[in-house]
Amino acid sequence: MKKSDIKCSECDFCKEFRPWNNTRSNFYCEHPNQDYINKYFKEHKIRSSEGFLGYGKAWSHDVPLKTSPEWCPKKAELN
Ligand code: SF4
Repeated sequence: MKKSDIKCSECDFCKEFRPWNNTRSNFYCEHPNQDYINKYFKEHKIRSSEGFLGYGKAWSHDVPLKTSPEWCPKKAELN
């Protein structure tokens, strides 16, 4: 598998949360290797919360990424 084939929308670790009374969902990566994610965010000074994938569109359950972020732990497993 190539790194570009990894898609959050097809990954079991991608989780959707919709805060109560909100029209948009938040998407997070719940890959078990959270240590890797936390370290990557820290080292690259990424300011959003660790594992955050993005906000969906209003009333949509679609994952807002076409593929997966640079910090995807599955990508690291391919190295
Ligand atoms: S970042 Fe990687 S492991 Fe996490 S949900 Fe996306 S594809 Fe899955």
